Amino acid sequence: MTRLVWWQCGRKKRYQDEHAANYYRRQFEQERGKKLDYYWCGYCNGFHLTSNVEYAVEKNAV
Ligand SMILES: [Zn+2]
Repeated sequence: MTRLVWWQCGRKKRYQDEHAANYYRRQFEQERGKKLDYYWCGYCNGFHLTSNVEYAVEKNAV
């Protein structure tokens, strides 16, 4: 589980704050026509976007 998060972290774009994450989330949602969510990541102390909302909630709880 820890390794999965780390692996995802390295592959994902990092946003410094919630504001930026939200901004790009909306942009990507419009581009792809797909619902996205963002979550805080303890490894890089930043935010990432994800299309898997349930997974994001699970990670926020950790
Ligand atoms: Zn990260």
